[in-house]
Amino acid sequence: MNGTVTLDAAPEPRETVACADCDLLQHLPELPPGGKARCSRCGYTLASRPTDPLDRPLALTVAAAIVFIIANTAPLMGLSAVGRHASTTIGGGVYEMWQQGEAVTAMIVAFCAVIAPGGYILFMLTVLLAVRRPPAPPWVGEMLRWADSMQPWSMSEVMILGILVALIKIAELATVDPGIGMYAVGGLVVLFAAIPISFDPREAWLRVEWADGRVPPLAWAREATRAEAAR
Ligand SMILES: [Zn+2]
Repeated sequence: MNGTVTLDAAPEPRETVACADCDLLQHLPELPPGGKARCSRCGYTLASRPTDPLDRPLALTVAAAIVFIIANTAPLMGLSAVGRHASTTIGGGVYEMWQQGEAVTAMIVAFCAVIAPGGYILFMLTVLLAVRRPPAPPWVGEMLRWADSMQPWSMSEVMILGILVALIKIAELATVDPGIGMYAVGGLVVLFAAIPISFDPREAWLRVEWADGRVPPLAWAREATRAEAAR
């Protein structure tokens, strides 16, 4: 160890967890990137640390944001009926359903296809950008919770279901051709499956400042280790 960074001042960075399978309490060791900790009694995976826990989900979330904008602005489908052609976006479809008195369906589609995924992308982007410079302010923790509660609603199944409902409603009236927006939705489904896999919320939590203004010791120690390794 040379020079400016000393680890001696930080408390031992160990965490106690209960195994989700057999309830055995045990200390988690500091995991290397890509490492896994298994329960010493039953072998259940207690924790795993993605190889690249913050940069990869950030890249995926930025990609998701771009694809989300395309999905919401490009025509979702083209309609041909009795020699006339028209196209609609997700928003246009919602508005159309609202106009035809299908208020409940319109609200469900708007929530699952626009509000929940948009909120999830927004909160994830904020969290991932804020934790790049630890310690992140405590409101980042709040955002992380919101992203967590948005995630099940922006699940691909729910989103696809919402769009399918809209599609079937319209297909009764006209010939439907998939538009760019539909392919963007397909891309979004893949990205939404990949973001939670690459993201480790614990890694973000470790970088959030505590409510009483203290800096989380583990983040401090880890940053120091990283700074030293880079030297
Ligand atoms: Zn166990």
